[in-house]
Amino acid sequence: LKHCRVCGIPADVEGVELDEEGVCRACRSQLPHLPDPGELRERVIEELESHDRVAVAVSGGLDSLAALVLAARHCREVTMVTVDTGAIHPEAWRRLHLARRRLDVEWRVVGDVDTFLELFERRLPRNQSPCGPCSKMIERRCERAARELGVDALVTGHELPHGTDPVVPKDPPVIRAMCGLPERERRELVREELGLSPRKLAGYTSNCVVLPFALKRFHEEHGYSFEAPRLAAMVRMGYLSKREMWERLEPPGEEELRGLLEECRGWIPRRLERLLRETLSSASGPESGE
Ligand SMILES: [Zn+2]
Repeated sequence: LKHCRVCGIPADVEGVELDEEGVCRACRSQLPHLPDPGELRERVIEELESHDRVAVAVSGGLDSLAALVLAARHCREVTMVTVDTGAIHPEAWRRLHLARRRLDVEWRVVGDVDTFLELFERRLPRNQSPCGPCSKMIERRCERAARELGVDALVTGHELPHGTDPVVPKDPPVIRAMCGLPERERRELVREELGLSPRKLAGYTSNCVVLPFALKRFHEEHGYSFEAPRLAAMVRMGYLSKREMWERLEPPGEEELRGLLEECRGWIPRRLERLLRETLSSASGPESGE
């Protein structure tokens, strides 16, 4: 199988074309303009230090917990904001509770679970990724919560899109705290400060229960992962190694998904449990359904 020589994206992902040197179009156009990771990190710290009161968008996954740790180190007053999508793994909830205790910060949980469930119910049966619209919905809710709290900035566990500045000019400004920070260093921060090592579920998530099911369905229809372009961008920027990316491009197995459902039983809304069960049985064919 052919891959881009730089970012490692497989050539069979839709829209990927390798040139004669085996480099994909995205690498070809972005490589000359990549910002320096060291400078990005300095900017993040500078920005955190210049904002006294911040809200941090936390889902209980690795990246947002790392962002929370950074904010707690550099800002005077921190409030955690969690959007309950209905799809947060029980382990991620446990990590959120623990982080709140350890860091002794305020925590606000917002969310209209049904709106998220409707999105999942529209997308999953059609083998479409729910991630794009779901992240937008989460983003809007966090920004609204930040305005209501009257904080000076909203801090998130994002690093993309790769502008040259980790601050997005919004009201209040958004500080993308993972800019310049490779995944292994995010893990170190979270382990050091919170004593936690979030387990990855499938693809690029350690908190969302829906993503693994969506990845499986999409992979069955298209033969590649819809996360490939995003993960390849992370490799290009130096956040992930190719090997780490390739591991995440493998779709989860049926056993893994069954185990996940078992872990979440009673924690996620029944409606979501039913949807995931149906997704699993239609992904694995009629024989192995319950
Ligand atoms: Zn590439």
